[in-house]
Amino acid sequence: MFKKILIANRGEIALRIIRACRELSVPTVVIHSEVDAATLPVKYADEACLVGPGPIEGYLSIYRIIDLAKQKGADAIHPGYGFLAENAEFAEACSANGLTFIGPKPEAIRAMGDKLSSRRLMIEAGVPVVPGLTDPISSINQAQKSADEIGYPLMLKASAGGGGRGIRICTNRSDLKKFFPIAQAEAKASFGKDAVYLEKKIENPHHIEIQVLGDRYGHLIHLGERDCSIQRRHQKLVEIAPSLMLDDKLRHEMGEAALAAARAVNYESAGTVEFLVDADKRYYFLEMNTRIQVEHTVTEEVTGIDIVKEMIRIAAGEPLAEKQEDISLRGYAIECRINAEDSKNNFLPTPGKVTAYYSPGGIGVRIDGNVYKGYTISPYYDSMLAKLTVRAKTWDGAVQRMRRALDEYVIRGIKTTIPFLKRIMEDPDFISGNFDTTYIETHLDRLNLSTSDDHIDKVIAIAAAIAAHSRR
Ligand code: ADP
Ligand code: ADP
Ligand code: MG
Repeated sequence: MFKKILIANRGEIALRIIRACRELSVPTVVIHSEVDAATLPVKYADEACLVGPGPIEGYLSIYRIIDLAKQKGADAIHPGYGFLAENAEFAEACSANGLTFIGPKPEAIRAMGDKLSSRRLMIEAGVPVVPGLTDPISSINQAQKSADEIGYPLMLKASAGGGGRGIRICTNRSDLKKFFPIAQAEAKASFGKDAVYLEKKIENPHHIEIQVLGDRYGHLIHLGERDCSIQRRHQKLVEIAPSLMLDDKLRHEMGEAALAAARAVNYESAGTVEFLVDADKRYYFLEMNTRIQVEHTVTEEVTGIDIVKEMIRIAAGEPLAEKQEDISLRGYAIECRINAEDSKNNFLPTPGKVTAYYSPGGIGVRIDGNVYKGYTISPYYDSMLAKLTVRAKTWDGAVQRMRRALDEYVIRGIKTTIPFLKRIMEDPDFISGNFDTTYIETHLDRLNLSTSDDHIDKVIAIAAAIAAHSRR
């Protein structure tokens, strides 16, 4: 096992990795920006060191991080998600400096990091991909010709895109003409590469992804699926395991397809193969994320496997402990992303200070969060404050439990997505499994009706004003 692990990340995922290390008795050192000096990972890690400059650059400074790891006597680095997690150059720099990158080999990151190269690989491996191009668009004429062949509506996508960004829907020729140069410029600015391509838009799909685990000795297993169809602007809000729309036959088939995808790049560590599934239950490869994902908690809850610990063990050279036949799914799990956002104001982030914090608890409730009373949400990072995950024996039980946990959850001082998530948990279409990736956009008005929470906020504001007035 490793002597010490450096965590090159922040927030809830840094804390998640610290917890896995604690249970494995591996000391941790976490890096942090000045803004993050008072956050939970800094308090919970054995050691913490400041890495500047600024709020972001330090978390992306490959060589500064590697130097810190060496100075502190760490022999491995866990990148978490985002930042350097899917950076093949970072993975290479780690091994060139005698450090273990806790993740897949750089070749696998590179092959899957680019959506076009992964599409070509999957076609070779016999995995069905979304119909569309396998090379970047070079001219608008060529794009229009291909578009006519594939058929509208289409998705114009950045090959290097991620995090739900760099995707545009084209419903006709003039959309394509208008969006192509914009998408190219945006891709260059956001991801450093201007390659964009076209994919057929799958109508009313489910986003179903398969968690895989592979060791250094060629053993690969999958841990079943997650349904991440509850999305806003291609970003996930609620995730579920297992999916209500898959039967055992399709689960097995998609599991095999995910393993074929992973095998094509000799995958080791934890990874996720994302698919779209249409109304006729045809499935199409979307992309592979070569890292731990935000929503891994629901898979942990239904399989009982600690995915982060497995990543660490695999990186330390241990063989997979479980075989495919050992994996079984127990009950249902739901994760809600609690974001500091105002759902009634176009989900605008709401930075500020948390003035009260009470987290839910009790049977089947799990919190992975980076928030406490007095915590100040800074505008520099993404707005996710915590992940609330529940598990229960049945689907209805899981929904009831999530409703109860959201009711217990109190975060004051800033607006959060809690009221919005409560509405989803009360919505008959959600409860009956009648949803796909268009759910939020088609239910937005219904989900944004005022809730009792808004009322409580108003009462508290009025009470505070009266108290302040009487003090004066
Ligand atoms: P990212 O790398 O940003 O996660 P993905 O390719 O995984 O991008 O797509 C993100 C989301 O966008 C998907 O979960 C899905 O909801 C939507 N999407 C992407 N491609 C298509 C498509 N071809 N048809 C319909 N929806 C799509
Ligand atoms: P998950 O599939 O784990 O939910 P997301 O797509 O929501 O992953 O992304 C997880 C984190 O990684 C987010 O903070 C997101 O902004 C970031 N991220 C993912 N891919 C990229 C990318 N290509 N460029 C920049 N950030 C990314
Ligand atoms: Mg994706």
